[in-house]
Amino acid sequence: MLDVVVVGGGLGGMLAAAILGREGREVLLVEREAALGGRIRSFDRADGFVLDAGAYLWPDAYVSEAMRRAGAVGFRASEIPRSRVLRLFVEGLSGRRFAFPYPQRRASIKLLESAEVALGVDPEGYEQLSATWARLAALSERETDSMRHVPLEEGLERLRVDERTAAALRRNVMLYGTYDPASASTAECIELGRPPADRPLAAPVVAGANPGGGVAAIVRSLSAALSSAGVEVRTSQAVDEIVLESGRARGVEIAGEKVAARSVVCNVPIWHAAKLFRPSEIPVEIASLAERWSVVGGVIAAAFAFRGMPRLRETGEVDDFPGWTRLLMGPEREFGGGMVWTTLHSPENAPSGIHVLQAMRLSPRREVEDPERVAAVHASFERIVREVYLEVDERLLWCKQWTTPDSSEYLISSAKRPQIAVPDVAGLFLVGETTDVPAVQMDAAALSAMRCAELIGGRDARRIA
Ligand SMILES: Cc1cc2nc3c(=O)[nH]c(=O)nc-3n(C[C@H](O)[C@H](O)[C@H](O)COP(=O)(O)OP(=O)(O)OC[C@H]3O[C@@H](n4cnc5c(N)ncnc54)[C@H](O)[C@@H]3O)c2cc1C
Repeated sequence: MLDVVVVGGGLGGMLAAAILGREGREVLLVEREAALGGRIRSFDRADGFVLDAGAYLWPDAYVSEAMRRAGAVGFRASEIPRSRVLRLFVEGLSGRRFAFPYPQRRASIKLLESAEVALGVDPEGYEQLSATWARLAALSERETDSMRHVPLEEGLERLRVDERTAAALRRNVMLYGTYDPASASTAECIELGRPPADRPLAAPVVAGANPGGGVAAIVRSLSAALSSAGVEVRTSQAVDEIVLESGRARGVEIAGEKVAARSVVCNVPIWHAAKLFRPSEIPVEIASLAERWSVVGGVIAAAFAFRGMPRLRETGEVDDFPGWTRLLMGPEREFGGGMVWTTLHSPENAPSGIHVLQAMRLSPRREVEDPERVAAVHASFERIVREVYLEVDERLLWCKQWTTPDSSEYLISSAKRPQIAVPDVAGLFLVGETTDVPAVQMDAAALSAMRCAELIGGRDARRIA
């Protein structure tokens, strides 16, 4: 009998399997796709281009630590200087760059212009917005925590924020944190506006200069770690069922084959996890929480390859911005989009002398499935690239467009997340982005993997001599 079977080879599953394998456990990792990585993936194009279809920039609160514990030493991340993490362009305004409206940023002439364009407030409204951010930041931990599962729209009503300020604050939250302004967690949003001293910020990082390029370097590095840790990896095999018996996990079933294990670690996101149990046996927590995760976003994306870096229309200088360019698109100045030069971080992402600008818009699933909407967003990307840069026609080699239906929890949802150790089912653990840990996205996957390994080590498997 195996010690552990891990269902799903996304970031959380790979990390948990490698950490447990390194601790001497006999681990099987099962992935239904042909390749590991889950939502961390890149398209490797035969002509030497690597397009990242998953995470681009992440706050590294736990990923590096988890990679170290997993023995994944082959991946290098690059840290982005704090002053160069975010900038803002607005479609239709001639490629002008606007001051980034960080919550509570001190008002200056430039910032007030930006607040008007981006947040829809005049100077007096901005003052009220700043005062509201300060009031929310001063709430106690207990008050903040009580709104962890309250959607922002409702939270702002509860906190008696007037309608005009609430509208500006929702836009601010969306622009800064990429949060869905309706369903985001009120507590997470309050925490966004706290000064760093109150909650040390994790360093923003991107995939660095790795052989092969892009975020897929994380996956390559973890695949090597899995192999050194002696983990058996099966790809192109879907787990059909997590087998439960007398209140404990007993293993999994794969195409009629039963694989027995002392512990089962499930890395399948909560919105799919319920399907892995017999209908009468779905653990209560998974059944009740899965339903609340219906707002899962997708991504409408494009990549532009340029011969050399183009010059910014605003200054005439060659662009060298390493962080995220946020975009306000269309007449409504909608947000949800951004651009990043992936080749500034991972030179291996393109043949020498060529630079790739990737653009993406986080969108609710219904938008990703609507061809007209997708075409409108792609057209917006093209217009804005022409507005921001000079010599686009001379330098542009190609543009590729695609959509990703399941991207992330669009982004931080107020929906409750399930615990790592599933209550009332011994030996069943959840890891990944949708687990109840104080971190989001890749950091949540990393932190849950480390905690899961500790739980299994501590109480669920035999001790390794
Ligand atoms: C475009 C995009 C941009 C993003 N940007 C960022 C960012 O900037 N910062 C950040 O932190 N995060 C970002 N994310 C989110 C980040 O990629 C995810 O948080 C992270 O990859 C999720 O990892 P996970 O462990 O939850 O597993 P997942 O990646 O969801 O992996 C689950 C795995 O389970 C497998 N599986 C499912 N069912 C079965 C089955 N029955 N049997 C076997 N295997 C199964 C799936 O194939 C998959 O490989 C982004 C995501 C996308 C798509």
